[in-house]
Amino acid sequence: MDYISTRGNAPALDFEAATLAGLASDGGLYVPSEWPRFSADEIAAMAGLPYAELAQRVMLPFVGDSLTPERLLELTTAAYGRFAHKAVTPLKQFDEQQWLLELFHGPTLAFKDVALQLLGLLFEEFLGRGGDPLTIVGATSGDTGSAAIDAVAGRAKVDIFMLHPNGRVSDVQRRQMTTVLAPNVHNIAIDGTFDDAQAMVKRMFGDPDVNQRFRLSAVNSINWARLMAQVVYYFAAGVQLGAPHRPVAFSVPTGNFGDVFAGYVASRMGLPVERLIVATNVNDILHRALTTGDYSAGTVTPTAAPSMDIQVSSNFERLLFDLGGRDGGALAAQMAGFEQTKAMQLTNAQRDGASALFSSGRADADDMSQAIRWAWESCGELIDPHTACGIHAARTSGLPREVPVVTLATAHPAKFRDAVERATGQRPALPARVGDLFQREERFTELEGDYAAVVDYVAAHAVPRG
Ligand SMILES: *Cc1c(COP(=O)(O)O)cnc(C)c1O
Repeated sequence: MDYISTRGNAPALDFEAATLAGLASDGGLYVPSEWPRFSADEIAAMAGLPYAELAQRVMLPFVGDSLTPERLLELTTAAYGRFAHKAVTPLKQFDEQQWLLELFHGPTLAFKDVALQLLGLLFEEFLGRGGDPLTIVGATSGDTGSAAIDAVAGRAKVDIFMLHPNGRVSDVQRRQMTTVLAPNVHNIAIDGTFDDAQAMVKRMFGDPDVNQRFRLSAVNSINWARLMAQVVYYFAAGVQLGAPHRPVAFSVPTGNFGDVFAGYVASRMGLPVERLIVATNVNDILHRALTTGDYSAGTVTPTAAPSMDIQVSSNFERLLFDLGGRDGGALAAQMAGFEQTKAMQLTNAQRDGASALFSSGRADADDMSQAIRWAWESCGELIDPHTACGIHAARTSGLPREVPVVTLATAHPAKFRDAVERATGQRPALPARVGDLFQREERFTELEGDYAAVVDYVAAHAVPRG
């Protein structure tokens, strides 16, 4: 399987090279050159498989010659063996229509672990075959950082530099990053928002000086391997609820459009998906783009769901590429316009293609608290504020009652204890697997939101090429 850039001006790579590169050299994102497709019989045969085996089956067409089927199964078995639930992503029923897919049973309590535990092992596997050491640079609104750090801490030939917006992540999120004291882990708190941090990371990837000295890689959901790993749980939930015979809808708490894009991929691969509901908080650029075709970034409003406090959703580019006839030149021009003006109009093809499968819902602070209360009072479940946006969008989607609606539970409620307690009066307990998080020593560096200062810091601490 070859991977091509959404902007049409970077070399095609195999799975191994695309995984290690992260971003394409023309500023675009890698996508598979075609979508593999499962037959109805193949999907029916997925029912009842252990998660690690299902993961191997769904991902095998994407890895090509980069891994043997046996090695891939070893890696999925190791990655998902670290989860605290035997089903890895268990499905829970809320009422006759609403279901919850719990994606937070990994080591750092958010769905990011599902992809990053595997990505850490893929990096180790591919770096073990030779080549320069890797310098991972990432920006996090909280959960990617902790999951990525857990996945690569102490591994050979990798340094990780993780930028988070100072004071804008929850205390649990911060401590999950800053209490990892492995020497290859470098936490940087910068003044500014997540979007500021992400813009600096993107700039570093385009900086010839930095790229000459260091072999940069990405763990944000711009890395294709992450999205690939997330496709698996759509199949897991779908077959449990009757796929290939019964279509299912998914409501996905969305920030960078990675998780919901994985749902789109599942649908392209043959899973019958009735609808993908893009759930946002008041930072609703995607809700506006999908309802009016106007993709224009406003300013970020901090909410109780900080991992969705995003105005620019990187992975939306992958959807626009696919829906726009995979024309890299045209998309490069569209994205260049957006980068200049922070606004763009979707083309008719993009709008029509999107509305065939996607709808959207937006939750304000009241909607979020009400959804948390509903889950607690009617169903006896504590849910986190991100998941609450999904539940709100799912319950207001207007889908016919015979379509099951699965909301992706993207974080454990204990990761956002204050908001859950405000809504319900219940303070969710931290699961035993995070242990003595609040007793551990923290280590991080504070930097101003200044590009040169961040580059200097990385250069002083990373292992250069050759
Ligand atoms: C990252 C994250 C999201 C948003 O996921 P995207 O793939 O960026 O759309 C939602 N909820 C939680 C808890 C997250 O950590």
